Amino acid sequence: MDPHVLVIGGGIAGIASALELANAGLTVHLVEKEAAIGGRAASLCCKATDVCSECSVCVVAQKIREAAIHPRISLLTNSVVRRVSGERGDFHVEIAEKPRFIDPERCIACGVCAELCPAEPKAVCLPSAEAVPFSYVLDERLCLRSRGQDCDLCRESCPTKAIEFEPAGRRRELTVAAIVVATGFEVFDARGKGSLGYGRYPNVLTGLDLEETFNREGCLRLPSNGKEPRNVAFVQCVGSRDESHGYCSQVCCKYAVRLARLINYQIPDAQVTIFYIDLQTAGKGFVQFYEECREKVRFVRGVPVEITQTPSGELEVKLENISQGKASRELFDLVVLSVGIAPRKDSWDLASILGINLGDCGFFDTSEPLNSTKTNVDGVFLAGTCQGPKDIPDSMGHGMAAASKVIQALGVQAR
Ligand SMILES: Cc1cc2nc3c(=O)[nH]c(=O)nc-3n(C[C@H](O)[C@H](O)[C@H](O)COP(=O)(O)OP(=O)(O)OC[C@H]3O[C@@H](n4cnc5c(N)ncnc54)[C@H](O)[C@@H]3O)c2cc1C
Repeated sequence: MDPHVLVIGGGIAGIASALELANAGLTVHLVEKEAAIGGRAASLCCKATDVCSECSVCVVAQKIREAAIHPRISLLTNSVVRRVSGERGDFHVEIAEKPRFIDPERCIACGVCAELCPAEPKAVCLPSAEAVPFSYVLDERLCLRSRGQDCDLCRESCPTKAIEFEPAGRRRELTVAAIVVATGFEVFDARGKGSLGYGRYPNVLTGLDLEETFNREGCLRLPSNGKEPRNVAFVQCVGSRDESHGYCSQVCCKYAVRLARLINYQIPDAQVTIFYIDLQTAGKGFVQFYEECREKVRFVRGVPVEITQTPSGELEVKLENISQGKASRELFDLVVLSVGIAPRKDSWDLASILGINLGDCGFFDTSEPLNSTKTNVDGVFLAGTCQGPKDIPDSMGHGMAAASKVIQALGVQAR
């Protein structure tokens, strides 16, 4: 019988790993805790102007579709691993599926439930236009029933009777020969840098907010008044390379430069400034892209220390200008904090279920310096950003490397 493999985490690293394993003839169980697969990369935007900026985001939708229809990959969304015992070749795994209010197998995504939902914001929605599984989800916390109201509109109107208000969770048991951990990262919470005003001033956004806005709306407007921004600043290294995160997140400089170029392309008379400590421009073709951007985007070597809002609603950035060696102040109408990649706070739970180690920074640890997919537990491998910061191509490459280590460890002849 073909060996079965468990992949925990359905982001781009887990998907790449699952596809590599399935294409080699193994049966893969891809467990994802959220309602849809794709992870963080599925919410990012294409950063093309009149030319492709090679941000790699378009690859994600394509890989999600491939995984969704692969006959050897079974998707277990809304699910987490509760218990693991055994050893390489024979792991016993218990998986808990959280109660699902909308059955994805019955939901035909007609949208009637969302149209009728009276909650504000709506309690039922599609996770994204390309969600896999393509099913509406109900957020219990937003549902009026959670506030004691006797609303039944979505359930009553569902043409396929897919909605159930008191569903039971399900438990499954699997036996697998190997496990790939691909649980990804958390975006640094910019509220942790209180002096930069995130959460206090409407026109201070994070890089992730900007990504999601472009992905959803295709353009950028000031949250405060809906007008086009005229003077935008990016602040680099928010939650990277500081006392509590002593590493470079590796993705922020590139997404910021690409987003700055996109803003400048869409709003040619907008002034865009990037405040940086030192720019990470490694990668084929990126230096050239950066040099071209310098013609349109202003780069200032400086560390913004405080952002305040003036009575007229502008944002005053106080910074230490490193190049000029002096403190200065500048006014902007929008400030974007380039937040970095942080380890997931719940990594410890999975580490103790699997018996794998966490490293100093909180990412999962590797047992061999030259093999970053290997853990201290035989038969358990790492893929993607759960091991440390990576962009999409590197996360996919790492996922594929983990798959080939599984194939090697199980002595499977690739097909
Ligand atoms: C603001 C921002 C912009 C970026 N822009 C770009 C860009 O333009 N280009 C680029 O190449 N990269 C970009 N990146 C990096 C990119 O997001 C990552 O490289 C990519 O998402 C990593 O994929 P992953 O699968 O390792 O992790 P994730 O995307 O975090 O996926 C992990 C998955 O595992 C699931 N999971 C977690 N814990 C469990 C559990 N216990 N059980 C089951 N499932 C679990 C999660 O729900 C998630 O679906 C950006 C990052 C940020 C923060």
